[in-house]
Amino acid sequence: MALSGLQIQKLLPKTNCKECGSNTCLAFAMKLAAKKANLSECPYASDEAKQILGAASEPPVKGVAVGEARIGEETVLYRHEKTFVHGTLLAVNIDDTAPDIDTTLASIRDYKLERVGEVLMVDAVALTQKGDDESFFTLVKKALEVAERPLIIRAKSDSAAAEAAKLAAGTKSVLCGATADNAAALRKLCEEYGHALAVTAGDVDGITALTEEFKAGGFNELLVEFNSESLAEAFQNNSIARFAAIRHSLKPLGYPALRFIEDTDLLEGTVEAVTEICKYGGVCVLPSFDPAQLVALMTLRLNIFTDPQKPIQVEPKVYAIGEPDRNSPVFVTTNFSLTYFLVSGEIENSGISAWLVIPECEGMSVLTSWAAGKFSGTHIAKFIKESGFEAEVDTREIVIPGYVAQISGELEESLPGWKVLVGPQESADIEAYIKSVLTK
Ligand code: SF4
Repeated sequence: MALSGLQIQKLLPKTNCKECGSNTCLAFAMKLAAKKANLSECPYASDEAKQILGAASEPPVKGVAVGEARIGEETVLYRHEKTFVHGTLLAVNIDDTAPDIDTTLASIRDYKLERVGEVLMVDAVALTQKGDDESFFTLVKKALEVAERPLIIRAKSDSAAAEAAKLAAGTKSVLCGATADNAAALRKLCEEYGHALAVTAGDVDGITALTEEFKAGGFNELLVEFNSESLAEAFQNNSIARFAAIRHSLKPLGYPALRFIEDTDLLEGTVEAVTEICKYGGVCVLPSFDPAQLVALMTLRLNIFTDPQKPIQVEPKVYAIGEPDRNSPVFVTTNFSLTYFLVSGEIENSGISAWLVIPECEGMSVLTSWAAGKFSGTHIAKFIKESGFEAEVDTREIVIPGYVAQISGELEESLPGWKVLVGPQESADIEAYIKSVLTK
């Protein structure tokens, strides 16, 4: 649990020597509490302080790597309290008796969805053994070769798990099915081949006993998989674990959750996956590859795991819409994603090619950024000059959003040689504006 400034101060030397850059130990403690300083800046911090503050600064839900992605590291129960940190990873399950394995693996690899400038993909492939060992190992090899994703390995036996873990060495995959009976063997495999381990039990008590045992033994790359028998039970188990970890600092339950959706009915399975995304799932394994289902789930995930404190924004730069040349029209708007996509979409719809200048506006909309002084004439002119865009075009007309018509004079003054045209207020009117003003 996070410590207050006063609690932290009690752990500091209280000599007010100022070597950390703060005037007093209390001031430094307040910075530590606000996570604006690091304890290493105090050369006199005791071992006890380092131990206590180090543990207190760990997130209540342990961070675990799966491939290149991370899960866990969550600090709040509800998104509006701060933000959720890592989105639920979506994996697709394949078993070794399934038809068209190569096609499915290639489809998983190639599936891409673009939303507000982000490219979303399937994060992992889950491999379930139904047939004999040879067919399972063939599946593991194919998945590694074709899908290019970390694996969620669900083998029938510990010996099959061992071979699969070895084949997937270095991919930071997940080995499933650790129970009290095989804990030691699977842990050894994960340590040797660099994988995380999913411990499984029917209830919270069973999971707690297992994770405590692993942590005491020095292995902490864990996920928890509840053997929940219904959607209600899955929801309850995930919620209890997250609540206990965050509100009561119960470390044995502070691990990301893994769940296989076994229901092959599209609607039922989607409801279960939605529940995982909304309620604390770390990895959600879908029973099959279905692009329609993935669109809905990935879009939901993007919304749930977007930081509410940071507007979604695109990179500030000059964007080419279509195939513009040196004489193409030039538009300017802000880097708030919604604004960018609306404006660029309307320009595209008009059928012309154009340049769209997007200065840094901290992701704010046109009027908000103007009110905050981030979308002024001098700001836009400075961006155009510093980007070198002036030298790339012969056009000397720039269209500004109608809502900020008042900056036209300032922009003309700051950008000598340019004529400022005031465009429409609403992006929906851009196409008509282009046809009536720019291409008439
Ligand atoms: Fe206090 Fe350490 Fe800062 Fe000195 S360096 S003022 S002892 S916190």
